[in-house]
Amino acid sequence: MKPRNKFEKAVVASNARLTAISHKAEEWAVKNVVKHIAFRTSGHKCTCGDCGEKFEHKGKGIVRCPHCGHKIETVDTLKRKRKEANYFSTLEAIDGLQVQRVFLLSVIYSKGNPIKTDCREVCRMWVNVQGKVAVTARKRAMGYYVDSFNWGSSIELRNLYDVYWCISDAYIYPRHSLIPELRRNGLKGRLPDNCHLCRLMSALLSDNRIETLMKCGNRKAVAYFVNHPRELDTCWASYKIAARHRYVPKDYGMWCDTIRLLEKCGKDIRSVKYICPKDLKAEHDRWLHKVNAAEEMRRSIEKLQRAKQREDEFYKSKSCFFGIVITDNDIEISVLDSLEAYKAEGEKMKHCVFQCEYYAKRDSVILSAHDLQGNRIETVEFSLSQGKVIQSRGVCNRNTEYHDRIVKLVNDNAHRFLKARATA
Ligand SMILES: [Zn+2]
Repeated sequence: MKPRNKFEKAVVASNARLTAISHKAEEWAVKNVVKHIAFRTSGHKCTCGDCGEKFEHKGKGIVRCPHCGHKIETVDTLKRKRKEANYFSTLEAIDGLQVQRVFLLSVIYSKGNPIKTDCREVCRMWVNVQGKVAVTARKRAMGYYVDSFNWGSSIELRNLYDVYWCISDAYIYPRHSLIPELRRNGLKGRLPDNCHLCRLMSALLSDNRIETLMKCGNRKAVAYFVNHPRELDTCWASYKIAARHRYVPKDYGMWCDTIRLLEKCGKDIRSVKYICPKDLKAEHDRWLHKVNAAEEMRRSIEKLQRAKQREDEFYKSKSCFFGIVITDNDIEISVLDSLEAYKAEGEKMKHCVFQCEYYAKRDSVILSAHDLQGNRIETVEFSLSQGKVIQSRGVCNRNTEYHDRIVKLVNDNAHRFLKARATA
C-alpha cells in the first residue's frame, strides 16, 4: 500500500530504520510469555522441556527443574513433542513516533532435546503525537485462521485490519521507550495491563479526558473508557461529578449502564443522588425495570393505536355477530364486540388474543366464555369457513374443566353465526 499522507510517509520512513529485536527482549519473552513444561509419564518420571534432562517428581503443578533450574509445569502425556506459541510486543520511540512491535514466539519441546525457539515479527502499530494510528505488517495468509501470515512478505504499510488490533493486545516487554508526549500525558511507571496499550496510547494523545483519568491514577476507569470510547461521551459529566464526591464504582460497565438508564428515565445525570448509589447493582436493576416497563407501555399503546386504525374494518366485518350470546345453566358465551374487549380479554386471560390481532382475522369470530357471575373461563375461536370451534383456551392457554362443554355449546350454535353472516 502506498502512503497516502504525511503521517504514513513518516511511518514508512521510520519503518525502514527499525532494527532487529534485541537478544534480551527475546530471552525475556521465551521466559515469560509461553508455558514451560515437563513431560511426565508413569506418575513420576519427568523430562524437562527446557533442557531435555530427566528427573523424578510426584504431585501436581509447577516444579523447578534440578538441572537447569527453570520453573516448569508437569504435564502427564505420552506424546514426545509439544508446541506452544504466543504473541508479545516491545515499545520503541523512533523519529518522534511511538511504535509497538508485535512478535510471534513459537517454542517446540521435544523429549530429550533442549527447547527450540522461533521469534518472528508480525506487525508494527505506529502512533503519532496526535494519536493517529497506522500499521506496517506482514501480509495475511489466505486460510482458515485470521491470524496466519505470509512469512515471505515484507513488513510494509497495510490496511489496519482488526487482526492487527487483536494480536497487538499482547504481553509487553517491560524495558520500553516512550515518546515524551505520552509520558507528559500520564503514561509513566508500570504499564497498565488491563487494557489495549496501543488504543490507550492513541486515546491518551487525542482525548484529554483519558489524559485526565490517567493523571488521576484511575486505571480501572482508563481501561474501561479506552475500550468503550462512546461511553465517555455519555458519562463524562457524571463521571466528573461522581469523582468529585469520591465515588468509585466497583464496576464501570454497570455504572455507565445505570447512567444511560437514568437518562432514559429523564433523571438528572448530574445529580449526586442518582449517580452515586450505595448499592449500584440494586439501583441499576431498579432503573432497568423502570425502563423496561416504560418500553412495554409504549409498545402496548402503539399496538392499540395500530388496532384503532383497523377498527373500522373490524366493525364492518364483525358487527353482524355482535349480540350472539350462547348460554346454558352455568355458562354464558358472548362475542367480543370491541377492540377494548379483546385487549381486556388478552390481559385477564394472559394469552395473545389481542397481541396477535385476532380481531383482524377475517375468518374468525372470537367469543368469551364466562360463568354467570362474569368470571372468565375460556376464550373461543370460531371459524366461519369451517363452521366450528377451532380453539378454546383458558388462562395462560390452558384448558379448563368446562372446555369440552364450551366447545360443544358453541358448535351446537354454529348455525347462528352462519345465518348472521348470510343476512349481513
Ligand atoms: Zn531443565
